[in-house]
Amino acid sequence: MRRGGIGPCSLALVLIGVASAAAAATATQDARPKTLPDLVAAFDHTFRQILTSEEYVTYQTTPAEEIAETSPELYQKVSQNIHRWSDDWIKSVTPQLATVPDRRLVEAEAATKRIESILARYFEARGWPYRPMRVVYLPQRLFHVPSRIARDPLSPFGFMDIKGMFIPFYPEVFFTTVQPSTPLGLVIVHESLHFNSRDRRFGHRLSEGITDVGARHIASEHGEVDERELRAFESYPTERDLVETILRGIVERTGRSREDAVDALLGTYITGSHVTMHEIFGAEAWQRIVELSRNHETWHQFERGVQEALGE
Ligand SMILES: [Zn+2]
Repeated sequence: MRRGGIGPCSLALVLIGVASAAAAATATQDARPKTLPDLVAAFDHTFRQILTSEEYVTYQTTPAEEIAETSPELYQKVSQNIHRWSDDWIKSVTPQLATVPDRRLVEAEAATKRIESILARYFEARGWPYRPMRVVYLPQRLFHVPSRIARDPLSPFGFMDIKGMFIPFYPEVFFTTVQPSTPLGLVIVHESLHFNSRDRRFGHRLSEGITDVGARHIASEHGEVDERELRAFESYPTERDLVETILRGIVERTGRSREDAVDALLGTYITGSHVTMHEIFGAEAWQRIVELSRNHETWHQFERGVQEALGE
């Protein structure tokens, strides 16, 4: 089973673990994969034929970001093909978008443009480098996860509510769907923050907590979601609680507002520089929190460790 570079986010499912889907079609055949999971399964099938066996094993077992650093040539080869096949596939399914009511699609595309300019200004004001993420809207049924995968207890599909997907080796595009039940503003900001993060040190759940607290802050500050929507959308509640503990620690030590504390922590996640956190908490205490975020055995142990490191 392929490991994703980052764990699956329950807002946007990172496509991992679908290699066993064994789709009959190859990515380049006329028989187009019907859904995104089928498309990714088809990549595997084709790469098995065109990569050397050593390259194929690396492709199967190593996260894309790691391959980018350790085997840039292999990354290029895989990434170029995946870009081409995905773009062809997007073109081939675009006519199906006609089935999505125009008004909702137009609204979603306008929201995406607004959010992109909000984020560009937000990042620029803080001196953080910003890359716009491309958002592709697809009909809900193209996210359909075959039941044989959903039944696999090891698969993230079994318990995830799919709001959108990234394809490994094609991180510039976020595939999502226009659903009335999803606070689109929050989802797009959340995924854009992941896409722009340069941090490689925070563990998965702490990354999600920081991302979601940051996304809620930015999206509500700019009127892209309201209080009722934020309350109704229960993303990462325990992770956000823990982040609030860290934010209180920043406020207590520096006298900053909560808003500035969010920026300090979010800035750490975006830039990958932990200098500010070292200044606020001391290098040793902060290092302990970062280590625990990757290596805790239970969530309770992690929470206790964070409280101890913060002297609570
Ligand atoms: Zn996430």
